[in-house]
Amino acid sequence: MAEVPAGKLVLVATPIGNLGDMSPRAVQVLGDADVVACEDTRRTGRLLAAAGVHAKRLVAVHEHNERGQADALVQRMLTGDVVALVTDAGTPAISDPGERVVVAAAEAGVTIEIVPGPSAVIAALAISGLPTERFCFDGFLPRKGRQRAERITAIAGESRTTVLYEAPHRLAATIAALAEACGEGRRIALARELTKRFEEVWRGTLAQAVVHTTDVEPRGEYVLVVEGAAHVEATEADLDAALRARLDAGTDKRTAIAAVAAELHLPRRQVYQAALRLAPGR
Ligand code: SAM
Repeated sequence: MAEVPAGKLVLVATPIGNLGDMSPRAVQVLGDADVVACEDTRRTGRLLAAAGVHAKRLVAVHEHNERGQADALVQRMLTGDVVALVTDAGTPAISDPGERVVVAAAEAGVTIEIVPGPSAVIAALAISGLPTERFCFDGFLPRKGRQRAERITAIAGESRTTVLYEAPHRLAATIAALAEACGEGRRIALARELTKRFEEVWRGTLAQAVVHTTDVEPRGEYVLVVEGAAHVEATEADLDAALRARLDAGTDKRTAIAAVAAELHLPRRQVYQAALRLAPGR
């Protein structure tokens, strides 16, 4: 049997706001590690100081250098070093650097362990008040273009609860796009500043969320938790109503067909035929 290298990689989750959420095992592992790989050495330096940890060595691993750093870190592990990897907040590799280092370590046969802990996706889902039994995480949506439209259409047709991350200045636009694609009655929870002083969970329909995010300027960190699509057999009247609502709102035919097909779980061809019938000239 091939020999397993002596060093290892340990992914360490850190608080998403409240320093009290730093676990005793996280403190222990970060203090013992030969190298602490982190996104921002100054930020992690402050976290470690607050936790009373004296790290032996800090190395920066961020989205711009992860590919190169992954190989260098694996070389260290192969020579016996324990590398602890943290990010600015939460669980590494979840919408954060870490995945490439894990892949490189796995390919080299290095042991990989985790100190689990805070992650905004799980925290928000758990307190959303929406179904938690089956869910999917869609990270950050693309900012614009076709890929963004396709992802939003897929969310509209998804029967599981969907969890998303979003920056505050893009929140209103994302909610408006979700309301258009999913229908205004779909429920959503907006989990804001979790574990921090201004922690808040707002719950309502997408129509209410559009008003809420227009009335109050979104500030701080947000997770969006979107209710899944209801799976009921759509009637021809449902199909016509869903199409008409979108076409009357000015949505172009192609987009309306894609969105309604996803929302009602109908073949595009069937929705296309209905669109021809309802708006032959458009
Ligand atoms: N790896 C992290 C995790 O495990 O949650 C996520 C990192 S991602 C770059 C940062 C995003 O997570 C923020 O833009 C926000 O959407 C969400 N987030 C992080 N902390 C949060 C908090 N305290 N409250 C609400 N959302 C938070």
